[in-house]
Amino acid sequence: MDVDAGHGAALGGALPTQPGELPLTRRLRSLLTWPTADTDPVSQLVRAHRGIHASADASVLRRAYTIAENMHRGQFRKSGEPYITHPLAVAQICAELGMDTTTLVAALLHDTVEDTRYTLQALSEDFGRAVAHLVDGVTKFDKAFYGKAAEAETIRKMIIAAGKDVRVLIIKLADRLHNMRTLGVRSAASRQRIARATQEVLVPLCDRLGIQTLKRELDDVVLLHLEPDEHARIQRHLHDRPGWQAYLDDVVARTKVALKRSRVDAQVSPRPRHLYSIWKDTVAGGHSAPFDLPRIAIIVDGPATDCYAALGAVHGLWRPLAGRFKDFIASPKNNLYRSLHTSVRGPQDRTVEVLIRTEEMHQAAEYGIAADFRFPRPATGAAERADELSWLRRVLDWEQDTVDPAQFLESLRCDLAEAQIQVVADGRQVVLPAGATPVDLAYELGTERGDHCLAARINGRLAPLASELEEGDVVEIFTETDAESGFEADAAPRGPRREWLVFVKSPHAQMQINRWFADHTEPGISISDKVRLGRATIGLALRKHNRGLASDLPLLRLSEELGYPDLETLLVAVFDRAIEPDTVVRQLIDLVDHRQ
Ligand code: MN
Repeated sequence: MDVDAGHGAALGGALPTQPGELPLTRRLRSLLTWPTADTDPVSQLVRAHRGIHASADASVLRRAYTIAENMHRGQFRKSGEPYITHPLAVAQICAELGMDTTTLVAALLHDTVEDTRYTLQALSEDFGRAVAHLVDGVTKFDKAFYGKAAEAETIRKMIIAAGKDVRVLIIKLADRLHNMRTLGVRSAASRQRIARATQEVLVPLCDRLGIQTLKRELDDVVLLHLEPDEHARIQRHLHDRPGWQAYLDDVVARTKVALKRSRVDAQVSPRPRHLYSIWKDTVAGGHSAPFDLPRIAIIVDGPATDCYAALGAVHGLWRPLAGRFKDFIASPKNNLYRSLHTSVRGPQDRTVEVLIRTEEMHQAAEYGIAADFRFPRPATGAAERADELSWLRRVLDWEQDTVDPAQFLESLRCDLAEAQIQVVADGRQVVLPAGATPVDLAYELGTERGDHCLAARINGRLAPLASELEEGDVVEIFTETDAESGFEADAAPRGPRREWLVFVKSPHAQMQINRWFADHTEPGISISDKVRLGRATIGLALRKHNRGLASDLPLLRLSEELGYPDLETLLVAVFDRAIEPDTVVRQLIDLVDHRQ
C-alpha cells in the first residue's frame, strides 16, 4: 500500500497546475487523477477484502494479479475487454462474500492453467498447494481429449475437489455469476444453454451451500436470459407501485413500537423479494399481475428465545393468517436455514409477511457455508460444519460407485433437483430425497442395513418397505440379522430384492442395489421378468402424477419415437436404468396431453 501511495503522490504532483485555477478545481482535479482508485486495478479488491478481514495480506493478492495479468495478456473476452477483467471480477465477488485470502488468490488465477501456459506445478510452487488444489478443482477437462464426456468429467472432478475443500465450489459459483452477468454479448442460443445449465446444476448447488446472497443474483440473471420479457415485466412492476414504500415504513415503525413494548431488542427493516422469487410465486399461483406481498425482517439482538418473544409481539399487533406460520428454528431446512416465518393481516387489512431470526441465523441464511470464512468463530464446531455438507458427503459416496461420468452427472442433477425431507432414525436427523422409502433410509444408514433390511416401523406402526416417508417421520429399520426384531429370519441372508429398484428414490440406494446384484450374479433374470418389472416401474412413476395407462398404445408410440425397435426393448431399458423412468413418464404425459 505504501508503494502505491508514493506512486499516486508522484503522479498527482507531476500534473501541471493551470494559472489562476481555483483551489477547489485543483482539489477536484487531483481527486480525479488520484491513481489508487483508477489506475491500480487491485485496490478495489484489497479494500473489499480488508473491509472484512482487516489484517489480510494484500501483497499476495498483488503478486497473483501480476502473474494472472501477465499470463492472460493478449487474450480478450467476447465483449472485447482484456481477459484479466474476468478473474479480477470473480475475485471481487469472492471478496464481497467475505472469503479468505487463499480463495481470492485462487480466484485471480482460476483460468490460468486452463487457458495459458502457466502450469499447475508452477502455480503450486508460487502460491502453495491449497491454491493449486482450488485452481485444479475448477479447471475444465479439454474437450479435444475427453470429447463428449468432458463436461460431465469436469463437474465430477469439481465435486471430488470440493469434498477436500469446499472453497472450490464458491469460486466456481462466483465464476459462473460473472459469466452470467456478462452473457449479453453471446448469441441467443448459447445464452439459453448456459442459463439453463446454471439453473440445473449451479443454482441448486448454491442453495445447498446456503449462500442466499449469491443465489438471489444467480436466480435473477437466469430469469433475465431465459424469460427476458417476464424479467422486464416484474422489474416494471417493482418500479411502479405507488404507496408501497410508505406502507412498509408504517409497518416497520409500528413493529418497532410493539417490540419495544415487549422488551425485545431488534432491528426491523423491509425485506423485498428478488425478481425470480416474485416471478415463481406469480406463475405458481396463476396470477395475471406480478404477485408480491410486503415483507419485513426482524433481526433480534438476543438468543433464539427472543425470536419467539418477537413473534408474540407481532401476533399481538396483527392477526396471524392461519397455516402460514413456519418454525424453521425448531426444524431447520436441510441447508441449515433457520428463521420463523409468519404472515399477518397488517394495516389496511393487507397481508404482510414477517421473517424473524437472530443475528447469527441471519448471517448463516445470507452467507451459508461462506459465513464460516466471513465470520470466523472458534465456537463453530466441526460437527456443525460436517452437518452443513452432509449432502456433499452423500454425493461423494455414490460417486465412488459410478464409473460412467454421464451417469454421475445425471444422478447429481436428480439429487439437486429433488426436494428433500428429513426423518429421524437411530436418534438422529437423516436427509432423504422427497418420496424416499424405508429402503432408501436403510441404505443411507449403511450398506449392510440396506442390503438386509426386512421391515420398517414408521411413527410406531409397521409399514411396507415401499411406503413413502414424510417430513419428520420417526423410522425404525429392522434387518434380517436383528436378533430382537421379532421377524422370522430366513436360514440364509437373502440380500436386496429386485423389486426395490422399482420404488427406491435415491441414486445411492439404486446404485447399492445394482452393485449387490452385480456382485452376486444370480442365475440371470429373464427378459420377460425385465419387461414385467420395467412396466411396473413406469406404472409406479405414473401413479405419482396421478396417471395410469389404459392401453399400451401411448407406450408403443413413445418407444417408436425414442427409436427403440419395439416396446419390450424400451421396458428392458427402463428396468436396466438405461433410460430414467421419470424421463419416460414425462414424455408419455406430453404425448398423451398434447397429441391426442
Ligand atoms: Mn472463469
